[in-house]
Amino acid sequence: MDFVLDEEQAAIRQMAQDFADEEITPFALEWDQNKHFPVDTIRKAGRLGMGGIYIREDVGGSGLGRVESALIIEALASGCPAVASYISIHNMCAWMIDRFGSDEQRRRWLPGLVTMDMLSSYCLTEPASGSDAAALKTKAVRDGDHYVVTGEKQFISGAGASDLYVIMVRTGEDGPKGISTLVVPADTPGLSFGANERKMGWHAQPTRAVILDGVRVPVANRLGEEGDGFRIAMAGLDGGRLNIAAASLGGAQAAFDRALAYMKERKAFGQPLTAFQALQFSLADMAANLEMCRTFLWRAATALEAKADDATTLCAMAKRLVTDRCFEVANSALQLHGGYGYLADYGIEKIVRDLRVHQILEGTNEIMNVIVARSILARSS
Ligand SMILES: Cc1cc2nc3c(=O)[nH]c(=O)nc-3n(C[C@H](O)[C@H](O)[C@H](O)COP(=O)(O)OP(=O)(O)OC[C@H]3O[C@@H](n4cnc5c(N)ncnc54)[C@H](O)[C@@H]3O)c2cc1C
Repeated sequence: MDFVLDEEQAAIRQMAQDFADEEITPFALEWDQNKHFPVDTIRKAGRLGMGGIYIREDVGGSGLGRVESALIIEALASGCPAVASYISIHNMCAWMIDRFGSDEQRRRWLPGLVTMDMLSSYCLTEPASGSDAAALKTKAVRDGDHYVVTGEKQFISGAGASDLYVIMVRTGEDGPKGISTLVVPADTPGLSFGANERKMGWHAQPTRAVILDGVRVPVANRLGEEGDGFRIAMAGLDGGRLNIAAASLGGAQAAFDRALAYMKERKAFGQPLTAFQALQFSLADMAANLEMCRTFLWRAATALEAKADDATTLCAMAKRLVTDRCFEVANSALQLHGGYGYLADYGIEKIVRDLRVHQILEGTNEIMNVIVARSILARSS
């Protein structure tokens, strides 16, 4: 067992870190304040191979693994967790096409997706079904070579800016077995978007409803067979959850680094903050949490890469553990800044706001515990 990055992994991490330092960090506060989705910057990341991290190379993907993906997303998130998380969602959509699409579908969509000339969104949640995703109601009725799709998807990241929508729809019976996955281009008649949601964080990417009103989607745009959609959606989320966790880790590490630098400079009672043992213990706890999160994330990523039997459980554990602990680390970093941590210009409150939603999306952390508990009980029966 080797917990050290090899030369190639270290170089990949450095490439992503350099990109974050030059292209993301200097602008992140401005994007947050102006609610700007930095599509040009995202496309630059695509040109460096970060739009198809674990996509096969025959369609232009980078052909890397899940550990490398965690390294890249962590590095990007040190600049802006919201931007890194969008790139993570885009990679998840591209992987669903790579893994479950036909050769024709892979050649049609992936070359544009891996460069991020085309952006993509993942559409599972509906107004009346979030955690209970298998209860989704968006209906796709077969009409010759097309499906006619009607319904609404809620909270869709990147909606309005994305070019392709990977949408889970109901083609059959109630429950998970009646769900299929369709890939729908943005310019399909009948597809429209709700208003950009006003939200606590993640201001650097849009969140909008995706509305489908009699949208005609060719049957040729379906991934896998009819009824495979829920399995495809859940498979995507295994890797998605690792990347969301990695985005929390990158944000929390950046908050920790800022807190440490601040504490060396800031004086109270005639000494720098670093002189107080209570605050040193805070730093020690934060550093230990970050290290634990990173180590476990790599463990779960390695299991997913190896298609281990317990990969889904480990991904759920990692998502819950890392997003919870990293939120606490970022919040502690804010506390260590005193009143200045609460000011927007210091960049800490933005990280806290951005990381909060990671405990909610791609399956809430309660649902992560449902997954873990179910697997424990199944194994013990
Ligand atoms: C900013 C943002 C971006 C998002 N982006 C996307 C996206 O791109 N694509 C997409 O499809 N979705 C997206 N989502 C939706 C997100 O995945 C859902 O909000 C999430 O799955 C929770 O669903 P819900 O909001 O309907 O909450 P509910 O399911 O109504 O849950 C409410 C509460 O009840 C708890 N709960 C529910 N069931 C159980 C249970 N069985 N046991 C214990 N507790 C339970 C939940 O944990 C939660 O605390 C996004 C959400 C946000 C806020």
